[in-house]
Amino acid sequence: MSTLLDEALTRLDLAAGFAQAHPEVLARLRRPRRVLEVSIPVRMDDGVLRVFEGYRCQYDDVRGPFKGGVRFHPEVGADEVRSLAFWMTMKCAIAGLPFGGAKGGVRVDPRGLSRSELERLSRAYVRAISPIIGPNTDVPAPDVATNAQVMAWMSDEYSVLCGHRSPAAFTGKPVPLGGSLGREDATGRGGFYLLMELARSRGWLPDRTRIAIQGFGNAGQHFASLAADAGFRVVAVSDSRGGVCCAEGLDVEQVRRTKRSEGSVAAHPGDRISNAELLELETEVLVPAALEGQITRANAASVRARLVIELANGPTTPEADRILDGAGVDVVPDILANAGGVIVSYFEWVQNLSGSSWTIEEVHGRLRDRLVAELAGVTDVASEHGVSLRTAAYVRALRRLNEAYQPMGVGGSRPAS
Ligand code: NAD
Repeated sequence: MSTLLDEALTRLDLAAGFAQAHPEVLARLRRPRRVLEVSIPVRMDDGVLRVFEGYRCQYDDVRGPFKGGVRFHPEVGADEVRSLAFWMTMKCAIAGLPFGGAKGGVRVDPRGLSRSELERLSRAYVRAISPIIGPNTDVPAPDVATNAQVMAWMSDEYSVLCGHRSPAAFTGKPVPLGGSLGREDATGRGGFYLLMELARSRGWLPDRTRIAIQGFGNAGQHFASLAADAGFRVVAVSDSRGGVCCAEGLDVEQVRRTKRSEGSVAAHPGDRISNAELLELETEVLVPAALEGQITRANAASVRARLVIELANGPTTPEADRILDGAGVDVVPDILANAGGVIVSYFEWVQNLSGSSWTIEEVHGRLRDRLVAELAGVTDVASEHGVSLRTAAYVRALRRLNEAYQPMGVGGSRPAS
């Protein structure tokens, strides 16, 4: 049976020829370095002991310490963390960061836990994985259902175990505990910088550029606000309960207020739209910012946007990729489009290690410069080889991994056979 990792590796296979990656390097990248499975005993508020299943997958660290989030979700499993850790490896490489890729998780529905149970679980998870993490080995961060508060507990637990403060061991912390300014909106902001650059290069004027956004959480909301503030027309947004649309453009701040007060954008006054309809709206830009597997073989041919910016991880299946590519729809792939979060995590790690703190202007400027430069590099590879932006992004990431492996004696410096 094919696994999530097998599916993720199809993108690597597509890129391998163009990247001229050495077979030994490709062989290294087909398997994670290590997957740690742990049991996490936690005493619940009612006195009962529950034992949770947890994971940390360290995929590859040739370019630097392993880096990746920790998610709390009922579906977490070894296959999922393996494929997400592979993605992180490629994402850190395409962003040019001196990090490898990792991912962790606990199989739990956090909505069923009290705050003190959540704290005990977060701390117990760190105790379980502490032998393999650290500021120079593996640096966890927030992911689905983990946030700055969870990072504060995890970072504190790690410091207790070390016997000294070690802020660089976790990123995504609250600012008073060493978090970076600008981390909160970094993913949406990174996608927004790419939008600005792509609109500029296509000659699209903001007020004539219609944008539909699926998912109105951290990534989608910040992206929507920044785009609307810059004059783009955000014509539809949705969340798990449905969506709202307006051809002239929504008042994004009002929609955010409705989301805060009513719990869903679907409660906002205006025309209703379902999640499926939103994906097929006639717009210039479509932004999947919710879940994986939204654009599939079944609906890809109905996508009418000219540009897709993947803020979500894995929203497009490989079959849908081929259909979009054939229809001339440009897709800015997740590993580049949502790299803003890990880039600002890297800024946080640098600030922690050097004992410095950057201004918000410094963070924004460095984030924009890095993403715009990487987009230009990916676009060049795409036109040079006549491939999609996704394949081009994998080619660029793979070239960097290949270059890092060669001085280590894997590929190139020894004969291939
Ligand atoms: P979030 O939990 O804050 O928001 C998710 C949003 O998606 C919510 O509005 C939710 O209602 C909506 N949603 C859930 N199911 C849906 C459905 N079936 N149809 C439409 N909308 C649905 O999560 P987030 O942090 O914004 O992450 C969203 C995506 O972006 C994920 O794929 C995540 O992996 C990716 N991402 C996020 C970050 C980050 O820094 N937040 C970084 C990299 C990648």
